Amino acid sequence: TFNAIVARSDDAGYRVALEQLSRSELPDNEVLVKIDYSTLNYKDALAVTGASPICRRLPMVCGIDLAGIVVESKSSAWQSGDRVLVNGFGLSETEWGGYTQFQSVSSNYLVKIPEAFSAEQAMAIGTAGYTAMLCVHALQDHGLTPSHGPIVVTGASGGVGSVAISLLSTFGFEVVAVSGRESTHDYLRSLGASRILDRADLDAKAKPLEKEQWAGAVDSVGSRTLATLLARTNREGIVAACGLAGGVDLPSTVMPFILRGVTLRGIDSVMASLERRQRAWDDLARYLNMEQLQTVYKVEPMSDIPKLASDLLAGNLVGRIVVDVNR
Ligand code: NAP
Repeated sequence: TFNAIVARSDDAGYRVALEQLSRSELPDNEVLVKIDYSTLNYKDALAVTGASPICRRLPMVCGIDLAGIVVESKSSAWQSGDRVLVNGFGLSETEWGGYTQFQSVSSNYLVKIPEAFSAEQAMAIGTAGYTAMLCVHALQDHGLTPSHGPIVVTGASGGVGSVAISLLSTFGFEVVAVSGRESTHDYLRSLGASRILDRADLDAKAKPLEKEQWAGAVDSVGSRTLATLLARTNREGIVAACGLAGGVDLPSTVMPFILRGVTLRGIDSVMASLERRQRAWDDLARYLNMEQLQTVYKVEPMSDIPKLASDLLAGNLVGRIVVDVNR
């Protein structure tokens, strides 16, 4: 048997606990992975605390990310010993996820861990960091270069925000970070933010159009913050929207779109194509500042996930949490 964090529903309601599973209980997919590390993302915190019904099938092994080594494979694409990772693809929603020492995974979900990264570093990036790369690609594919002006990053001290700031500054962009915590300002500057705005400045009712302030945005927050981002984006600029930490609504108008040609680009990491994923991981391996990555994460034992999930939703964590599933 081995350890796993499992969500179940019974007479006492929805509950998530550390349990013992056996190999025979795992789903029958092509590739058996011995997992080294998983991660704690915003969505994981929602699943573990039960704050939102992320797990659409129960019982469910939680964890939207995993990294480890193939130990058995019925697929010719993967061999025993391959270093692999999975981000999303319905893990912890409809497919059993990464909070376990072993998982049986569909061969189509696997990505090779780039040579540049250990399994721990791949999970320090995790879904949050890979999503940050997808957001940066959206801005670059729109044609933005540093000469177009600053890029604003909301939810700056979180997982997506931290990696986005680091990447954008590496690519030479001037980065404006938006954070609700003064205690994280030194951290955000160390990642490359040159200016920091208070979360409250954006989390207010925006006029349909406000003074243009940035060429692009990476948004983890949604709601009024996203509306303000749109109202302050330069003509022909772009906002990559990936998150809902501030709410799921969007109290905006069409004015930024029809009077300034602003683009609102949605980012979905969960069902992104393998091509998009591969491009993101290739560029993370090529460009991510490894010294900064080292300062962005902490490794914590799987047994502490329930407490850490509550801390994350309370807004008390900074950067990324890597989960050691063997502790
Ligand atoms: P995280 O580490 O918890 O970061 C979220 C950050 O948002 C916090 O650190 C905080 O930063 C800020 N924040 C928290 N509560 C807020 C509130 N009520 N209003 C405004 N700002 C608030 O989470 P994450 O893993 O980076 O994920 C960020 C968001 O992106 C989540 O909504 C997540 O679901 C979403 N996401 C989406 C995808 C996708 O595929 N679309 C992939 C990954 C993540 P400050 O303290 O610095 O303000």
